[in-house]
Amino acid sequence: MSKKIVKPKLRNKSARKTERVMLQSVKGMRDILPADQPWWDWIREEVGKLADYYNFGRIDTPILEKAELFEKTVGEATDIVEKQMFFVKSAKDRLVLRPENTAAVARAYIEHGLSRLPQPARLYYIGPMFRHEQPQEGRFRQFHQVGFEMLGGEGDPVYDAQTILIFYRLLERLKITDLNIQINTIGCRTCRPIYRKRLVDYYKSKGVCRDCRRRLSINPFRLLDCKGEKCEEIKKEAPIILDNICDGCDCHFRTILEYLEQIGLPYVLNNYLARGLDYYNRTVFEIFTKESTALVGGGRYDYLVEMLGGPATPAIGGAAGLERWIAVMKSQEIKLPPAKTRPKVFLIHIGNLAKKRGLILLEELRGAGIKTDEALGRASLRAQLKQADRERAKVALIFGQKEAFEDTIIIRDMNTGSQETVPLEKMVNAVKRKLK
Ligand code: AMP
Repeated sequence: MSKKIVKPKLRNKSARKTERVMLQSVKGMRDILPADQPWWDWIREEVGKLADYYNFGRIDTPILEKAELFEKTVGEATDIVEKQMFFVKSAKDRLVLRPENTAAVARAYIEHGLSRLPQPARLYYIGPMFRHEQPQEGRFRQFHQVGFEMLGGEGDPVYDAQTILIFYRLLERLKITDLNIQINTIGCRTCRPIYRKRLVDYYKSKGVCRDCRRRLSINPFRLLDCKGEKCEEIKKEAPIILDNICDGCDCHFRTILEYLEQIGLPYVLNNYLARGLDYYNRTVFEIFTKESTALVGGGRYDYLVEMLGGPATPAIGGAAGLERWIAVMKSQEIKLPPAKTRPKVFLIHIGNLAKKRGLILLEELRGAGIKTDEALGRASLRAQLKQADRERAKVALIFGQKEAFEDTIIIRDMNTGSQETVPLEKMVNAVKRKLK
């Protein structure tokens, strides 16, 4: 339904009174209505189950963080830090709504000494992120991510393979098909500077776009992410990291690929996958649909904990955008699992006394775990019966003036129409029997 928005004009008081202002949600932020909740419930349920099977513990970090957390780690020359953070007014700190959660998980890992847990510490989260982007299909300013992170331990390639695996299994459990895993390595502190120099040498004589010219001196890897037509063309001849990595990175990368083959995960090498955030090193990966919707992105971030003042801590993880998952599930016509609805009871009251005492009966029923609905605000018996029918109540309880005086209630089977009158103290048991 389109809403007509009337902007308030600050004229005189009486004129203001008659004008209605229709407030709408903030650009790029959406309400999730009850009709859509089953998709979210299903995802949350599968995330919880997989996290349990794979031994990930849930972590919830605050939505507000210090801006510095992301500036130091995601990097000053990234879109996220350059232009996408929502600042929140605060007298003392420079606070932002979190644009991503890996840096916050690393902060919490240091702050709470999670290195004392068996390593790697396996953590997962699910919650809203905020980026000031240009909203478009599948791109919002508030969106929800589920993330799996493994921090600490040996930095073994087996954890890289397992991170990709858990996201893939989650997508499989949600019946999303036609997936495409893309993987690359971006090297380490030893080999990355050499590759960086080769990239700069290659790009500096090319006519790249204005943004890329600026990025070239700050973060040349981001040129590989540019989607501009001309820059895409130039990228085709750009040097690739695989020709420039050190033996350690080469071995790490090959081993991951062996593990992926071992567990039967189909992947594609994408030599230009760079994921321009500063904290990544070695492995980077993304999972796309065949229509190229990015569903998951992640990588290794062995230096992140150090960037935040902690000890050297190998780590790997990824995050997935759930709005996109749901959109893909709908477009692939995936069916929701059958709802686990419990049969419903509907309390119908007639008269004021029944209405007052009905409040207590409702508490009794609900307290006994019986799903009960009512229309206490409505007086008409017909309207209440109609509502009970529309809501597919299995049982209607009819409570009138006479029943209120006699301490009884009528139990009506909504399928057969048969009725019986029972004393109030037997109501809960009688209803339970009927619902069986
Ligand atoms: P990133 O944190 O940028 O690596 O993104 C990880 C995943 O989050 C992407 O693959 C998308 O599925 C999702 N995502 C990122 N940005 C947005 C956005 N603005 N709106 C919706 N989903 C997003």
